[in-house]
Amino acid sequence: MRIKHGDIVIPGDILGTIEEWELGENVYEFNGEIISLITGYIYIDRSERKISVKKVKNKPLIPKKGDIIKAIVNNVRSDFAQLGIFEVNGEEIYGKRFSSILHIINARHNRSETLHDLIKAGDIIEARVLNSIVPYQLTIKEPELGVILALCVDCRSPLRRIGKNQLFCKKCGLIGKRRVSINYIFG
Ligand SMILES: [Zn+2]
Repeated sequence: MRIKHGDIVIPGDILGTIEEWELGENVYEFNGEIISLITGYIYIDRSERKISVKKVKNKPLIPKKGDIIKAIVNNVRSDFAQLGIFEVNGEEIYGKRFSSILHIINARHNRSETLHDLIKAGDIIEARVLNSIVPYQLTIKEPELGVILALCVDCRSPLRRIGKNQLFCKKCGLIGKRRVSINYIFG
């Protein structure tokens, strides 16, 4: 995601490169990349081409260990998936999606399942955060965690739950398999 003035960042976030920006406050450079040292808001001084991170009095909403989050699945590989967190403990985050990882060991209940059987790109999941740094590690191994909304891979209609871990598209008849949360939206 392209960084812009006012975005929330956390320590370790990459803000750009030294070709683009001069170093301002609360940032450092490593291998040509400019990285935030603190949690705060991006402050861009266009006249000096300088990028800083400003501290904020009211702490911005950032995920931490133990939090329940909502995230969109960006892509799924055989052993892990990449997701973007957009809600923390029921509160929506503005201006940023925190990158997070779901490893298969934190998703499957038996060894025959692959991650593709449990979640798909575009799904919305509810998960618990396992650590307090980026990339966040997630788990869905609790009954109220897992997919809460999935769209049909063929026609993009919202799928309805028809059984434990089974979803159905009313429009085209497709049956989808997921690790479905007990909080799935279309029951
Ligand atoms: Zn469909």
